[in-house]
Amino acid sequence: MNIPRVSYPRIVIIGGGFAGISLARRLSKKEAQVVLLDKHNYHTFQPLLYQVSTGGLEPDSIAYPLRKILKNFPNIFFRMANVKEIDAENKIVKSDIGDLKFDYLVIATGSETNYFGNQSIEKHSMAMKSIPQSLNLRSLILENFEDALLTSDLDERNALMNFVIVGAGPTGVELAGALAEIKKGILPKDYPDLDTRLAQINLVQSGDRVLKEMSEKASKKAEDFLEELGVNIWKDLRVTGYDGKTVTTNTDVTFETATVVWAAGVKGATIKGLDAQDYITRGNRVVVNEFNQVKGFDSIFAVGDIACMQTEDFPQGYPMMAQPAIQQGKQLGDNLVRLIDCKPMKPFKYNDKGSMATVGRNKAVVDLESFKFQGVFAWFVWMFVHLFFLIGFRNRAIVFINWVYNYIRFDREARLIIRPYKKHHIVKSEVKKS
Ligand SMILES: Cc1cc2nc3c(=O)[nH]c(=O)nc-3n(C[C@H](O)[C@H](O)[C@H](O)COP(=O)(O)OP(=O)(O)OC[C@H]3O[C@@H](n4cnc5c(N)ncnc54)[C@H](O)[C@@H]3O)c2cc1C
Repeated sequence: MNIPRVSYPRIVIIGGGFAGISLARRLSKKEAQVVLLDKHNYHTFQPLLYQVSTGGLEPDSIAYPLRKILKNFPNIFFRMANVKEIDAENKIVKSDIGDLKFDYLVIATGSETNYFGNQSIEKHSMAMKSIPQSLNLRSLILENFEDALLTSDLDERNALMNFVIVGAGPTGVELAGALAEIKKGILPKDYPDLDTRLAQINLVQSGDRVLKEMSEKASKKAEDFLEELGVNIWKDLRVTGYDGKTVTTNTDVTFETATVVWAAGVKGATIKGLDAQDYITRGNRVVVNEFNQVKGFDSIFAVGDIACMQTEDFPQGYPMMAQPAIQQGKQLGDNLVRLIDCKPMKPFKYNDKGSMATVGRNKAVVDLESFKFQGVFAWFVWMFVHLFFLIGFRNRAIVFINWVYNYIRFDREARLIIRPYKKHHIVKSEVKKS
């Protein structure tokens, strides 16, 4: 990888997400050589991916070049590399651009979509974990409407305009709300010759409430907001399959649809070498102790979504969210410096700052420890927090301007099919272009 060997210990970080970046920044200008590896050359702000999928934001405004984040830190090297394997015994990471020896290794690879082994859903549904996937979804949504205009088969048209979102966590709720706003505010103007009232947005949830990780008050209010926007909420319904045309469930309910978005779960993005049952637990996450050390190793650590630190308050590990990832990254940075200085490390303690989700314009829910609120104020808080955590002044400025513009104009201008998405299944191939 052409990284010079120096006298300082080498810390290799796999993953430039929230955890990896916080950690690398904490190690800047310290007596350690830091090598950050990521398969992309940019950091993705995942909480706003749904806005890219629905044309509210351009992808560039939620991504940031990793090299720019690290540019002022001479002790930090970046290599764009997909890490394939970890040889823990010999302290080597193996990637598509070569091997690298480490003194300390930090796995910060985040998570990937969990289809729970259902191959039909994996093959035919859309995921929203990365910018390319969000762009695919954006293209597909828009292509569906273009095709709905062309077909004279009513069933086909209904399927093209029927959206099924599986999973009513923040991602599912936010996407459903955004699609409902498009149906209401944009489709009638863009497609005056299409009966856009036919468009249906279905949000399917296996549990008995949406946003189940939040308070009951937040769930109830989010459901009210979604219903106001015309989203069909299906509770206690489990999706069992999707063949590209029909969604089946554990009941008699089925959906004929050209678009299923799978937002029903994530699992740790493990790497060969440390993916054996000895190291991982529920959700494919790597088991770590209170110092983020991987079980059985002194010099291998994991932080963020991939790490499962089981505590009394969080027996299944901390939530797979940005805050635990950022806080663990920072704390591990301090701990690695202590370790190099032969000082004892400090245990990690999560500071839960609360959670929030938005359903649409003026509609959000916020749960803080001592205060829960919903509506317009919550929506402003949601926007402020997301702007604050976005990386880069330019991105913040662009997102802010976009939001103000969209608010005033009731618009989402990035509805562009720049890279058409080719679906390999039945519905679209059957569309008769007439
Ligand atoms: C659609 C969506 C909405 C979300 N909304 C919210 C929200 O509102 N609030 C909230 O707190 N959280 C939200 N989250 C969750 C939050 O984004 C994650 O918890 C957070 O990104 C975890 O940070 P991380 O650093 O562990 O992993 P990530 O941010 O996922 O970063 C992992 C990095 O590792 C890299 N990588 C992975 N494998 C390899 C490999 N083999 N080789 C090289 N590089 C690799 C990836 O390219 C990536 O850059 C959302 C997630 C999604 C997908």
